[in-house]
Amino acid sequence: MVDLQGQYAKIKGEMDSALQEVLASARFVRGPEVTAFEEELASYTGAAHVVSCASGTDALQLALMALGLQPGDEVITVPFTFVSTVEVIALLGLKPVFVDVRPDTFCMDVTQVESAITPRTKAIIPVHLFGQCVDMEPLLDIARRHNLFVVEDACQAIGAQVRFSDGSPHTAGTMGHIGCTSFFPSKNLGCYGDGGALFTQDGALAERLRVMANHGMRQRYHYECVGLNSRLDTLQAAVLRVKLRHLDEFTAARQAAAADYTAALADLPAVQTPAIAPHSTHVFHQYTLKLEGVARQPLMEHLSAAGIPTAIYYPVPLHLQEAYVSLGYRTGDFPVSETLAQCVLSLPMHTELDREQIQYIVRILSQELQKS
Ligand SMILES: *Cc1c(COP(=O)(O)O)cnc(C)c1O
Repeated sequence: MVDLQGQYAKIKGEMDSALQEVLASARFVRGPEVTAFEEELASYTGAAHVVSCASGTDALQLALMALGLQPGDEVITVPFTFVSTVEVIALLGLKPVFVDVRPDTFCMDVTQVESAITPRTKAIIPVHLFGQCVDMEPLLDIARRHNLFVVEDACQAIGAQVRFSDGSPHTAGTMGHIGCTSFFPSKNLGCYGDGGALFTQDGALAERLRVMANHGMRQRYHYECVGLNSRLDTLQAAVLRVKLRHLDEFTAARQAAAADYTAALADLPAVQTPAIAPHSTHVFHQYTLKLEGVARQPLMEHLSAAGIPTAIYYPVPLHLQEAYVSLGYRTGDFPVSETLAQCVLSLPMHTELDREQIQYIVRILSQELQKS
């Protein structure tokens, strides 16, 4: 699904010397490399403040901790996402409340949010799934009217751009009170291990996040709140500084691959290619098809036999997972998420896909679909 070896080969010179410098400095946690990366990412995204941490999951958890939510408070999000979004809500004793996603963009259906708000609702977590942003302008308007926090899960959408109706440009993660991203190796900006970051425009909130991510400690061995040990390794910061310099090229390569797929798949009636929302660019963390009237499992096996990996993101929506039965949801509650779980299929998507590979994938896929 991804070709991290091919990507490393292209940037090996730069990467190896960046890593050597960290090894020679023998500073492995925080330090100037981490600060420099935070500043560079802030200037890339337009965020006023970037606070790095140990993973995207930790970023989401730190965000909810910093907002001072109380056990039992409700947080609105979607069941069609990676588990972390919902896991952190549950871990903190908060209550996940779901709304469904849209069948075209797979992102939160913002029109369902207002009716899910109760007196206990405190926050909304929109998930910018597969690389494009939720329709943030109406969502931010709802949040303002109901005095709710917005924490963006931008783990899959770093660099995606949104234009508001007043013409102002924004990037994924910088529109809500806090934005969260992940540097897991397969993400669009991936390090060589785990890593994550938080974005905020609010200096006081940034300071609170920074303290919380380091054991609640401001002054050495004085703890002002219960925190986490969640820091970005210096080696990972060095990796990310190199990769951030290439992120625009990486994104362009993904977008070009997606455009090639979409053009080549246009005439296949059994597949629906990804829809791009009018309000957001798409950075194609995943290239995800909807299949119509196709047996998915045998198709995946045939593709695999031809050397083509595919994946299902996500096979079971979170409201139907064993871990979350206590929330009391049932089959039928979120029909769009449930249908998508049955019919989506993600094709290989990464920065090293070339035309020839895409043509091969499309040729085999078309042959298999014509057989079925
Ligand atoms: C990857 C991901 C996360 C978690 O990030 P980690 O760095 O793996 O902890 C959270 N939400 C979404 C939507 C993700 O894709």
